Amino acid sequence: MPDGGAGATVLERDRELVWHPYARLEDAAAYEVTAADGVTLTLSAPDGTTHEVIDGMSSWWSAIHGYRHAELDAALTAQAGRFSHVMFGGLTHEPAVGLAERLVTLTPAPLQHVFFADSGSVSVEVALKLALQYQTATGRAGRRRFVALRGGYHGDTAGAMAVSDPVDGMHAAFPGHLAVHLFLPRPPAARLRNGELVSDPEAVSAWVAVANELFERHAHEAAGIIVEPVLQGAGGMHVYAPECLIALRRLADRHGILLIFDEIATGFGRTGRLFGADWADVTPDVMCVGKALTGGYLTLAAMICRTEVAQALATTPHGVLLHGPTFMANPLATATASASLDLLGRGEWPGQVAGIQDALADTLAPARDIDGVRDVRVLGAVGVIELDRPVDLVRVTRTAVEHGAWLRPFRNLVYTMPPYLCTTADAETIGRSMVAAVAGILR
Ligand SMILES: *Cc1c(COP(=O)(O)O)cnc(C)c1O
Repeated sequence: MPDGGAGATVLERDRELVWHPYARLEDAAAYEVTAADGVTLTLSAPDGTTHEVIDGMSSWWSAIHGYRHAELDAALTAQAGRFSHVMFGGLTHEPAVGLAERLVTLTPAPLQHVFFADSGSVSVEVALKLALQYQTATGRAGRRRFVALRGGYHGDTAGAMAVSDPVDGMHAAFPGHLAVHLFLPRPPAARLRNGELVSDPEAVSAWVAVANELFERHAHEAAGIIVEPVLQGAGGMHVYAPECLIALRRLADRHGILLIFDEIATGFGRTGRLFGADWADVTPDVMCVGKALTGGYLTLAAMICRTEVAQALATTPHGVLLHGPTFMANPLATATASASLDLLGRGEWPGQVAGIQDALADTLAPARDIDGVRDVRVLGAVGVIELDRPVDLVRVTRTAVEHGAWLRPFRNLVYTMPPYLCTTADAETIGRSMVAAVAGILR
């Protein structure tokens, strides 16, 4: 066993032993986390210094209630005291059924049936497989392709990668391996004005015309259309016109194509409404949720669908939905997720998210005057500074930590998606550290 030498730090032992996301083996982690409590992360730097910072990332948008939340801790440990995992084939348990009931209650009424997956990417795979099986069941087995959006992100497994943006999604790195799908242009941008998302009506009708045309030409070979409603996350933090979702609903209905909303990033209040779909009052045929589902405690996602879609599968040759993960509906994860949804159900989140939105709007505004800043946008508990060049990740991260916040920018985007229980002062600290970090690399 490599030990990195006697007295080696965790950071040293980590290096070349474990991979980090999208990294080379020899890329060092910047900090070791030694504690996480409320909205605060305690970080230990390579030089041995300790930094208490406000978490601007919610651990990749999942820890909406912060860390060591008393009620989530209690739900998790109570379930661990009963049993931690049992197989879901042939067996069931209260945590799974209780969570499914909550999800069906929370999501739009037609969504009635729940498939638990162990990560967001897997829930997307399940949604795609469901759509393919559904088309076979309804006598349209030739429909094997999907329509997706440029700039979309749906996960890192092969099926999910194939419906993510062809350039960002690194399709070129896997030639011949990924299915070739149909892509619509990125929908036109929208801005928050007096609580509504507004966009250029001409840009919207031009986009809808392109969508009409693509469906006219390709509907006969399309099983489903998958989009992140209103906010494209990892594909560019792009806020877009809700009218596009209304158009897609109409096109999906007209052409017998399933409309799949990937709410893994947008779900559970992040954009200021409970689901991204709520901005357009559109109900999809299939919805995927994940990330914040367990309040960031454990990995869990779900695919939720309409009754007629679920029932159609009975007439396929196999008669069943062909998926079943080992850790399906894990009791620790589903019990914690129920506790997280109960916290949301107390109804404090709209005020919290609105408070974060206001604080970010105020503190990020000065970034507009910095040369090299292309755009500043805020939607719900999401704040973004878009630059005209790629971000210097190391410098931005270090400057932000010096200013009291943890950020993890990507490409040309310095952004935050903080936990909902951030106070105004916390959100301002994050916003100011974003502006300082951006000023630091541009000036
Ligand atoms: C993060 C994300 C996924 C993938 O979820 P994982 O749990 O990382 O597999 C899929 N879709 C969207 C919109 C996401 O933000």
